[in-house]
Amino acid sequence: MIRPIVRYGADVLHAPAAPVTAITPDIQQLIDDMVQTMYAAPGIGLAATQVGVPLRIFVADISVGRQADGLLVFVNPEFVERDGMQLEEEGCLSVPGFNATVARPARATLKGLDRNGREQTIEATGLLARCFQHEMDHLDGTVFVDRLRGLQKDLIVRKIKKLSRSGKW
Ligand SMILES: [Zn+2]
Repeated sequence: MIRPIVRYGADVLHAPAAPVTAITPDIQQLIDDMVQTMYAAPGIGLAATQVGVPLRIFVADISVGRQADGLLVFVNPEFVERDGMQLEEEGCLSVPGFNATVARPARATLKGLDRNGREQTIEATGLLARCFQHEMDHLDGTVFVDRLRGLQKDLIVRKIKKLSRSGKW
């Protein structure tokens, strides 16, 4: 089932998510729905908080379904290592219509559970490393806009407020 994606300003996007205590059928269903929602959007990553569920789960696929093994599911992920720096333009399904350049480490290694509750560790570089960090931010209640500074941030926040006021957000 495709779930509605909440937008910047929704409380659930701005608070840390809780760890998953057990991978129950409800959690499996949530993961299936998140995968379907991400592909339908389409997007390369989606955190549970973006469908209004404050749990530490995200799904990612930088091939957007083009590669059979492209789909990654992380439950209770943690950083093992991060280093380097990359500067690329970034967007978010919860902030449609806005992009900005965000500094991120160039490499990131994550460990956590897969959708069957098995431990996994995945090393990423480039776009996947950026995606991991963007989704990890969501689990901590941070949206990419929050990482911007000064005028760039003010401009986006102001435009979002204006859209909200006119009921277009
Ligand atoms: Zn996002």
